[in-house]
Amino acid sequence: MKTTAVTWRLAGLMILVLMGWTAATPNIATKLLAADAQGANRTSAGRATNVIVVTLDGMRWQEVFGGFDPMLATEASGGVRDSTPLRAAFARDSAEESRAAILPFFWDVVAKKGQVFGDRGVKNVGRVTNPYKFSYPGYNEMLCGYPDPRINSNDYPANPNVTVLEWLNGRPGFEGRVAAYGAWNRLSRIVNRERSRLPMLSGWEPIESSGGLPLSEREKLLNDLLARTTRMWADEAPDSILQEAAMEYFTRHKPRVFYVMLGETDEWAHGRRYDLYLESARRSDEFIRRLWETAQGMPEYAGKTALVITTDHGRGAGPGDWISHNARTPGSEGWWAAVMGPGIEAKGVIGEGEVTQGQVAATVAGLVGEDWCKAEGRAARGLPLTPSR
Ligand SMILES: [Zn+2]
Repeated sequence: MKTTAVTWRLAGLMILVLMGWTAATPNIATKLLAADAQGANRTSAGRATNVIVVTLDGMRWQEVFGGFDPMLATEASGGVRDSTPLRAAFARDSAEESRAAILPFFWDVVAKKGQVFGDRGVKNVGRVTNPYKFSYPGYNEMLCGYPDPRINSNDYPANPNVTVLEWLNGRPGFEGRVAAYGAWNRLSRIVNRERSRLPMLSGWEPIESSGGLPLSEREKLLNDLLARTTRMWADEAPDSILQEAAMEYFTRHKPRVFYVMLGETDEWAHGRRYDLYLESARRSDEFIRRLWETAQGMPEYAGKTALVITTDHGRGAGPGDWISHNARTPGSEGWWAAVMGPGIEAKGVIGEGEVTQGQVAATVAGLVGEDWCKAEGRAARGLPLTPSR
């Protein structure tokens, strides 16, 4: 750790010296910048140096690929008293238009520039392989690369398994550059905060200063909101607050690996509110766009960052059981994922095949040039991403 700090200080000093020198010699400065841009382009054509992972808890593949389901837009099935505004917002003539109304960034950008898995409509079957089909077992499978039958409850204690996030945080160049922000308070157990020591926000806990930076004014305000907001869910903070906290962490600390766990889609589905479930999905998509566009405006990220969007489990398929997900509810294993980034071909929706949730961990590592399968023999191999050319 000490060596790293010294190295960074030295690097900072060199940059300062270089800045002074280049200011005095504009021609050389221009040449240097041009050379640097070429270097950056080479990086972007090959592989990402950063990866952002965002999960939408319990977001069904049915809406991701098929859009609005009119069967669920009633009071009895979806708790929708007046379906007029909901239909105006999300019902369209085709599934393609409707899904893009719910997840505009996902469909207009991610699917066009990247690859999307789990569309059962085209026989790409995505599934979770843990037998429980609820959250903690799903996040373990996703972040470790394999299901663990011991993790059979959302109240399971701290994860005995090492997640790919914890592992990456120990890799050269990633030390202190991995963080996880989650609306659900189980995040701290899932990534084993005590052991992994990742900078983290988990549920209703206040944001803590990290990396030697004091809290910003914005973070202090968010902590006030966390303390004063009525708790609709005892174990889950509103996505809006978590999203702002995540944006603040991202722009101030510039992590190379950043995981954001959103939660409201699952909460509103359990609460049988199809309208609010879809609204949460659209707001999640809006947040991902903002995070992505912010990143593209930062030199540390522009053109050298990959994005993974996925979920922890499926849900039931019908008007009665779409709110539930567990071992007894058919459809709960349904799973999907989307990936885009430098070096990944723009293939859109991937056709016939099979993918599993455990493939996420190796995918995340692989996107930034690390081999998780080599380190963890139980991990599934990464998603079958086609490289660009
Ligand atoms: Zn869940």
